[in-house]
Amino acid sequence: MEEKQRGKGHRLVLMPSPFQGHITPLLQLADILYSKGGFSITIVHTVFNSPNTSSFPHFTFHALPGALSDTEASTVDAVHLTDIINTRCASPLREYLAVLLSQGDKEDPVACFIADGVLHFTQSVCDEFQLPRFVLRTGGASPFLVFASFPLLRQRGYLPVQESRLEEPVVDLPPLKVKDLPLFQSHHPEAFYNLVCRSVDGCKASSGVIWNTFEELESPALTKLRQQFSVPMYPIGPFHKYFLPGSTSTSLLTPDKSCISWLDGKENKSVVYVSFGSIVAISEAELLEIAWGLANSKQPFLWVIRPGIVRGSEWIEPLPSGFLENLGGRGYIVKWAPQEQVLKHPALGAFWTHNGWNSTLESVCEGVPMICAPCFGDQKVNAKYVSDVWKVGVQLPNKLERVEIEKAIRKLMLGDEANEIRENILNLKEKANVCLEEGGSSYCFLDCLVSDILSLKSSTSRAL
Ligand code: UDP
Repeated sequence: MEEKQRGKGHRLVLMPSPFQGHITPLLQLADILYSKGGFSITIVHTVFNSPNTSSFPHFTFHALPGALSDTEASTVDAVHLTDIINTRCASPLREYLAVLLSQGDKEDPVACFIADGVLHFTQSVCDEFQLPRFVLRTGGASPFLVFASFPLLRQRGYLPVQESRLEEPVVDLPPLKVKDLPLFQSHHPEAFYNLVCRSVDGCKASSGVIWNTFEELESPALTKLRQQFSVPMYPIGPFHKYFLPGSTSTSLLTPDKSCISWLDGKENKSVVYVSFGSIVAISEAELLEIAWGLANSKQPFLWVIRPGIVRGSEWIEPLPSGFLENLGGRGYIVKWAPQEQVLKHPALGAFWTHNGWNSTLESVCEGVPMICAPCFGDQKVNAKYVSDVWKVGVQLPNKLERVEIEKAIRKLMLGDEANEIRENILNLKEKANVCLEEGGSSYCFLDCLVSDILSLKSSTSRAL
């Protein structure tokens, strides 16, 4: 971007959804617009999972009061929590914007609102103030195309998913099969469908959609979305590559950096890194299958076991006693890892992931082949793209079994396919680097985004 500070004197108000995989890209986007665009930044957030404000002294933060009770916040049902936020945050946000926009910071008038795509309530609140609203989609464009097709998929009988049809191709969305369609374990089955449809409508009504992806990775999906939506699409990712790794912390948990020195002692491309992100939960039986699959593979492994990830356990009590000790230093377990630094480490050979979008993109950017074990939401679509479209990983069967795990690890680390997969992912890594350089696709879309925000701004100022 030529004039780095074009946004100087204009404020952007951004609101994240309060989950790790959503907070990180939104704060990264805010930092990109601050450092590359020169905008002033205000982050409006829930008290539940509030961001680490000390990492961003250059932002203003405002917590919306009273959105969630402690009991509600302790539920593991992310769809239900998001529904509550969509209902309860409207009033406090309205009150906050009314004050912010009427008193106005004369030096920094608000140019627009940028909301996480699942916070669909923000569209009508912004409309009341004639405040332009952009959407940040924290997932990929390919899974979003599936979300945008939900009514059609229901009409064609693919949704709700039926066990007997899992292997059937979804003719409208190749190469997906019914088993790849997004599902969410919610106590309110209809809630996921409704949340998806409202979020899609919220994108259609917005001033534009910002993506943490890049054109070269998801061109077919972005092209289709441009045909289906009449609002601009700005694929300006990968967001985390705008910054030095670890330069700002967006993590809700404290990463255990001791694993980096453990990795230092391992051979190049030898270690399997295992992490299922911030929300996925597993059973005790699955924990044991993973443990024995890793042990039997004979490859070194770094395994993130979040406290509480095993249903009914505090941490790793279900592992057989002496499990790690008996592996003679071949395994290392942490509660939370500095994932970006881990993926960059030369010792990394593969990433066994649940295929949350952030993890998938981070792996692509570091050229680390993936073992895919998706659980819910967009993860199944992401995994299908990793294994069958980009061909940068292999999928595990749905049921986690030690023999299959051992086989998948060997296939990815040592098998004939390994070289081809590695070559494919290094190719994508190169594209991810190029798109951010001057004249690259993400560089140019960011430039357009800044220009579009500034041109909208003048009409908003008049309206206010
Ligand atoms: N992450 C991390 N340390 C860990 C595990 C995950 O820093 O030990 C980060 C990871 O880098 C990613 C985010 O947490 O940015 C997880 O987001 P993702 O979309 O992959 O999954 P989610 O947590 O939303 O299921």
